[in-house]
Amino acid sequence: MTRLKFQLEATASGSRARAGRFTTLHNEVLTPTFMPVGTHAAVRAQRREDVLTSGAGVLLANTYHLMLRPGVEIFEKFGGIHRFMNWPRSVLTDSGGFQIFSLPGSRSVSEECAEFKSYVDQTLIRLSPESSIAAQRAIGSDIMMVLDQCVASTVERGVAQRAMELTHRWALRSLAARGDSPQALFGIVQGASYADLRAASARAIADMPFDGYAIGGLAVGEGSGAREDCTGIVTELLPQDKPRYLMGVGTTRDLLEAVHRGVDMFDCILPTALAKQGVAFTSLGRRDLRRAAYRGMHGPIDPKCDCPTCKTHSIAYLFHLNKVQEPQGWQLLGLHNIHFYMQLMRTMREHILADDWLPFYRSQRDLLDARDSYGAPVRHVTKAQRQKLKLKLGRYEVLIRDGVGHIREMASGEVMHSVNDPAEEARSLYVEQSRLVERLAKPDAPPLVVWDVGLGAGTNAMAAIQAVEAMWRRAAADGPHAARRLTLVSFENDLDSLKLALRHPAWFKHLRHAAPRGLLADDRWSSAAAGVDWQLLRGDFNATKFTAPLPDVIFFDPFSFKTDSALWTLAAFRELANLLSAKAVELFTYSYSTSVRAALLASGFYVARGRGTGPKAETTIGLTPRAAVDAAGRELSHGRELLGEEWLAKWRRSDAQAPLGTDSSDASWHHAVRAHPQFQTRFVYP
Ligand SMILES: [Zn+2]
Repeated sequence: MTRLKFQLEATASGSRARAGRFTTLHNEVLTPTFMPVGTHAAVRAQRREDVLTSGAGVLLANTYHLMLRPGVEIFEKFGGIHRFMNWPRSVLTDSGGFQIFSLPGSRSVSEECAEFKSYVDQTLIRLSPESSIAAQRAIGSDIMMVLDQCVASTVERGVAQRAMELTHRWALRSLAARGDSPQALFGIVQGASYADLRAASARAIADMPFDGYAIGGLAVGEGSGAREDCTGIVTELLPQDKPRYLMGVGTTRDLLEAVHRGVDMFDCILPTALAKQGVAFTSLGRRDLRRAAYRGMHGPIDPKCDCPTCKTHSIAYLFHLNKVQEPQGWQLLGLHNIHFYMQLMRTMREHILADDWLPFYRSQRDLLDARDSYGAPVRHVTKAQRQKLKLKLGRYEVLIRDGVGHIREMASGEVMHSVNDPAEEARSLYVEQSRLVERLAKPDAPPLVVWDVGLGAGTNAMAAIQAVEAMWRRAAADGPHAARRLTLVSFENDLDSLKLALRHPAWFKHLRHAAPRGLLADDRWSSAAAGVDWQLLRGDFNATKFTAPLPDVIFFDPFSFKTDSALWTLAAFRELANLLSAKAVELFTYSYSTSVRAALLASGFYVARGRGTGPKAETTIGLTPRAAVDAAGRELSHGRELLGEEWLAKWRRSDAQAPLGTDSSDASWHHAVRAHPQFQTRFVYP
């Protein structure tokens, strides 16, 4: 007999997304649907009325937990979970397989059953396919799940295969154990992240007469790509006329991807679990109430939501409740999240029925994952909106990765600070390595001059200014303080990159400061409080460098040779070395290429290894002779590690020996590198 009358209503064009409906012992459920998790016969911190109002048609309860507390006998006494918790709609009970696998404590699995210790009183509990079904029959759920052996999705193949095969044998025993119960029963597909095992399991389980089919063992260690692949493999093999349920998944974006692959049912603790941490899923992406930007913000947490929370309370109020850890904050945010999930499922269903799923799916993918990393409302960006949002200017465009903006030169594709966090790279490679703050600790010395070659989006310059401002904030706590002034000279021939980044302060957090706009307006910006004078020299560095005060430190961060060729040639470095010959100067650059190092050496710089960043194991520091050695020829390294014989040997073997911009007619550089004092044995180390 068919216990769930599943009716497939529509499948979207260009997708496997489906809309359908099924009838349980209690109600009709429209799919795709989300099932709020009521582990202990209650959704965390939520009243049943509120869960009902959200439109939830099925509640998920955990057999494992309910067996331990209150115990099966209580459900027998009350005639099932519906009467016990006064829930009028459907309940789905899981089998306990996932909890046995995931909760701490010893457990063992045999052909017969799983044995584990109760986390409540440490008694030994045996759970077999038959006893799990017996417990679920007593609980009286509308949909029961078979007992499965759940393993981490990343286990080795042999383990995954044995667990899968046991799950298949247990599935047959579960079907037999159901007997004539009117409750529906779903089989579970296992197979970890192995595509062939997933396919084999889907075929085996699909051959058994279940009322629906679940995909288990995902969201337990694999990445979202592997999860989506497995989901797609399985749904392709499952019968069209039965519902498919992806267990324990996931974020709103995960749901969207799984619906696209033909899944109908979901459960996940995230809406309530993240609410406890202050995180809301909204039509603007995720919003995190721990961010200070929300402290005084008017308006609901989601302007498009009509849940009781959004209709009643401002973001500022929710921020406050979260801040003081008031349980009502958790409740109100959880309520919104459940409503948001349910509304998302209804919207997905409407688009499938209207057969305009694909454009909807594409428009939501990035939006649902967007995060308010910098506290500002997250804007959703479609291709059509890119131009409108002014994401391009001149030769540059903005890229956004994980909520952080990057500037790309479109012709070359080169990205400024292509590491995950440009501000962190600027701090580490340039500000910290140059010991900028230490150098300022000499109040009587003349101003420290820093050249910022390649202003770009102002990342390095602002890292320097912010480090100095932080120094003054720390000093302020200790009373009157004096320090050396900082003269920061930025060189740039195309200010479009800074102008473009300034349009998007949400993604370029370092620009939320008066300095960059002041610099653009007046070509200079000064801070009396922090003792900083920032100047802008427009034009080509090779020409403007002669007009700047001589530096102590150089942040050498232009685009690479293929984009900013003239800055990396032997001739350019020779000219720079001549200009700086009378001064102790340290030059820091991200490049560690053999030819750039050869150019520095051939120009007379000493060359040391710099810190690594992102995928680069090291970078480069160039030192003028006065910065590298004292009058007696002793190294003044400040801990710098000069390149030695080993590098020279590598250079001799290299295909990239020649500095950039040299030709075969002039090989004077070759001798200059080999004969560099840094490689001579007479070089005296202290
Ligand atoms: Zn809401």
